[in-house]
Parts: sequence; C-alpha cells; structure tokens
Amino acid sequence: MMKSRVNVISERLVEHVARSAAGIGVSLEKISYIAGSKRAQIIYDIVKGLGRRIVLVHGNGALYCGLCKKGPFTKRGLYLHLVRRHRYDIKQLIIAEISD
Ligand SMILES: [Zn+2]
Repeated sequence: MMKSRVNVISERLVEHVARSAAGIGVSLEKISYIAGSKRAQIIYDIVKGLGRRIVLVHGNGALYCGLCKKGPFTKRGLYLHLVRRHRYDIKQLIIAEISD
C-alpha cells in the first residue's frame, strides 16, 4: 500500500479500534468501506487485535485504558477516552500493523 493511503486508512480506522477496545462492536462492512473489500477481513482482524491490546479488563469486568492505565470506564467512556486522548498513539499502532 502507498504511504499516503496507509495514512488515510489508519486515520479512519482509529475510531473502529477504539470501538473494538471498548467492546462496542466493529462492523466488517464499515471496515470494507474504508479499506476495500479485498483487504477487509485482514484489516478487521488487525482492528480486533489492536483493540484487545489497548484495553485492560479487570476481574470484575471493569474497563481500564491499556495505554495510560486510567479508569475504570464505561464502554462509552473508554471509547471517548481512546479517541480523544490516544488518537495519535492508536493511529501509529495501526500504521505499524498495515504498512508492509
Ligand atoms: Zn488512556
């Protein structure tokens, strides 16, 4: 993928990684609009994998940010925290995963 395309796709995937981390749900169809149908499944798996990496779930089910350890958050609270505070960090994680 061209570097500029990686940048655009990564920018648009940030909210989906945050949704996945917060357990809100990610749609393969929406990923497909962003990344193209050919790459949708692999990008979807990357989004899910990154989502798991940036959340800490305590024994009682409480959600904490995996990047700065803040929490506990509700699902929506964690989603908002991730997109507001960690947009850049998440984008860099995505770029590292989808660049080849
Ligand atoms: Zn955080």
